[in-house]
Amino acid sequence: MRTPLIAGNWKMHLNLTEAAELAAAVARVAEACPDREVMIAPPFTSLARVREVCGERLILAGQNVCWEEKGAFTGEIAPPMLRELGCRMVIIGHSERRHVFGEDDQMINRRLRGAMAHGLVPILCIGETLEERDAGRTMEVLERQVRQGLDQVGLEDPARLVIAYEPVWAIGTGKTATTAQAQEAHEFVRGLLADTGEKNIAEGTRILYGGSVNAANVDDIMAQADVDGALVGGASLSAETFERIIRFA
Ligand code: PEP
Repeated sequence: MRTPLIAGNWKMHLNLTEAAELAAAVARVAEACPDREVMIAPPFTSLARVREVCGERLILAGQNVCWEEKGAFTGEIAPPMLRELGCRMVIIGHSERRHVFGEDDQMINRRLRGAMAHGLVPILCIGETLEERDAGRTMEVLERQVRQGLDQVGLEDPARLVIAYEPVWAIGTGKTATTAQAQEAHEFVRGLLADTGEKNIAEGTRILYGGSVNAANVDDIMAQADVDGALVGGASLSAETFERIIRFA
């Protein structure tokens, strides 16, 4: 019942020409794979150009969003601005936002609520650092990030939220969580969603895995019962590799 979602996070990469070429290639693959959803999150500056080649099926997303719809927020992008550029989704709370730019759970919650208020589907990113995992605190960290990230969010429709479990130590490092570690975390997060009391929310919300997903490991990761897709960084920058990931077995 959960349609798989393969999402590419381009981070701060590609010029306009490269972005349009890659998006056009990914759009062709998305058209050819109607049983799964495909999303890309280019840098803000490429969104208008990329939109021209996205077609109907490829979902466009922002890499972050402000909670306000306009005002004195230098450097930020408002939800209606993303909507105007054709974005349907937005990444929120990515590990680089949390750990490089100091965004905390409260700020991430504000961003998430702002996105939802404007009809954007947020991908709420959560994940523990290596230090936290080694200290046996993984589930405690995930619980805090889910509960605080979703504070004051009325979850009614599972299609309106996506969660991405991305262990910080696996992002951009070439280290992947084992399939057992991924499944354990995903099952735990689904259990937290079940606490909302709405059975359809826990069963219907997609939980993506992220952290050095590539062509060689995607099939095993996607075979886990509670893994509903992948959030892919580095490997989404190659049309060929990303196509293989989208076409996971
Ligand atoms: C990410 O950016 O969310 C990510 C998982 O990156 P990578 O696939 O490069 O580890």
